Amino acid sequence: MRVNTWKRAAVAFALALPGAAIAAVVAAPAAYADGCYTWNRTLTQGRSGDDVRQLQIRVAGWAGYRDIVENDGRYGPKTAAAVKRFQQAYGLRADGIAGPQTFAKLYQLQDNDCTPAHFSYSELDNGCGGSGWSGGPLSANQTKQNALRTMWKLEALRRSLGDKPLRVSSGYRSRACNNQVGGASDSQHLYGNAADVTSRTSSLCQVARAARDNGFSGLYGPGYPDHDDHVHVDSRRENNSDRSSNTTSWSAPDCGIGAGND
Ligand SMILES: [Zn+2]
Repeated sequence: MRVNTWKRAAVAFALALPGAAIAAVVAAPAAYADGCYTWNRTLTQGRSGDDVRQLQIRVAGWAGYRDIVENDGRYGPKTAAAVKRFQQAYGLRADGIAGPQTFAKLYQLQDNDCTPAHFSYSELDNGCGGSGWSGGPLSANQTKQNALRTMWKLEALRRSLGDKPLRVSSGYRSRACNNQVGGASDSQHLYGNAADVTSRTSSLCQVARAARDNGFSGLYGPGYPDHDDHVHVDSRRENNSDRSSNTTSWSAPDCGIGAGND
């Protein structure tokens, strides 16, 4: 979070004014302007538009068990339920309506480059030492957009674990990088859709179990080959560019997660 000049200016202005004028200034949406994105209306079920899509990116991690929030710009029941879980997680009034209190929390959580407070683009781009966002199957811009959604899901996962730090050991990988580390040929890492995470304060199984509620349709952890030292999470269900079907795929047998017992 960064305190931005708009907010400071609005507060300073308000302090210099008598009663009635203060209320008018404080109520103005401009007081919440943000370096990344500013919502200009309250969003409820039935609304649609880019402002809904922007909201969906940021609440994608509050999809609920084994579910996802589609990034379709339409405020349906799933978006409302995700907003409600977001509100509950941050101690706000949980009404499923994205209004001033919800936006204020989002402004507080996001940096001016739109990444959530505890994750950064550079952290997600470290597959082989930071190769930018090109060299994968998607355009650099699309890849970066996917990485942004991945980060908001990770922020939700982090919150779900009691605000304990998560470390990303591998995020986006170019094709060359993916080959170098021996990744699957159509890995979600190629799309900016995946992150390998570790934690010093939670066990890998705690991370894996929590991730089931944070919008991750791909989840591999302890007990799955080569996943005993990290948890892999991804958004394969939202990926229409890969070769796999848009379904959920989880396996962490040592954590009781796998076909039939998740
Ligand atoms: Zn992975």
